[in-house]
Amino acid sequence: MTFEIDPPDLSSERAGNTGTTAVWHFDSGLPGPNVLLSALVHGNELCGAWALKNLLASGFRPAKGKLTLAFCNLVAFDQFNRQAHDASRFVDEDLNRVWMAQKLADPSTNERRRANELEPWVRQADYLLDLHSMHEPSPPLLVTGVLQRNIDFGLRLGVPRHLVVDAGHKDGTRMRDYAQFGDPQGQALALLVECGFHGAVSSITVAQQSVAQFLLACGLAQPGQLPAGWEDLSDQAMSQQVLDVTEPVVARSKNVSFTQQWQGMECLPVAGTVIGHDDGQPIVTPYDNCVLIMPSLRQALPGVTVVRFARQRH
Ligand SMILES: [Zn+2]
Repeated sequence: MTFEIDPPDLSSERAGNTGTTAVWHFDSGLPGPNVLLSALVHGNELCGAWALKNLLASGFRPAKGKLTLAFCNLVAFDQFNRQAHDASRFVDEDLNRVWMAQKLADPSTNERRRANELEPWVRQADYLLDLHSMHEPSPPLLVTGVLQRNIDFGLRLGVPRHLVVDAGHKDGTRMRDYAQFGDPQGQALALLVECGFHGAVSSITVAQQSVAQFLLACGLAQPGQLPAGWEDLSDQAMSQQVLDVTEPVVARSKNVSFTQQWQGMECLPVAGTVIGHDDGQPIVTPYDNCVLIMPSLRQALPGVTVVRFARQRH
């Protein structure tokens, strides 16, 4: 798969305007939502960095409320190499698994130290859009978490088409589930968008469309205020659909294979369909009309999720 996009030059964005490296904050001076847009939580996921760089370059300022932009894991990003782009996902550990008190209290890794710098900016926000991309070419999707308020908000955006409802990862809490964002009783809204393959030009378009719809839905942007083309959803002919993840398929061995090159979002009509093998054992779909979410063998090791099974919500 060709890696089409170039890493953005972030030499001027790195300064930030807050005292925290690569964090930008703009206060309209008017009451309104406090919105955080984050990119580069994974250092090889460039589309979000391009979207935030372009938003800054456009001179955009919130019409009301406050806006924070964060380029998250620059130490990992600085190691980016398109021939081995997975290697710059993180330095010591996944920055999207450290959002829990006991890990933040033990700043023994690059990612925990950076999470501690970012934490006040995460905690002060009442809306979060976290921009990511994917290991494999796959349709873009919105990861909502299980809270209904996030699913409802995702359905107001109109983009991307697929909303994936999942409970996160056993190996650590994501930024989008941290503190107020994971509080079932709370009001704070958090969405994570997977914009397509890391190296696809289209991932930048999806990131920019998502940022635009998010800022419009929060009321931070007025129609027509965003850079040219960002508000255009004419390529989104299909209505959105909600997919409930019922279980991850976690590799038990290094010896995992798929029966074909699944792209993601395939709906397999018959329960028991063999989609792959793990150490000689078949991996089968557990129910009829099972949808495959983000299949990838790229990081397949014991304990790593290689695909998720989901049911379409009607
Ligand atoms: Zn990511």
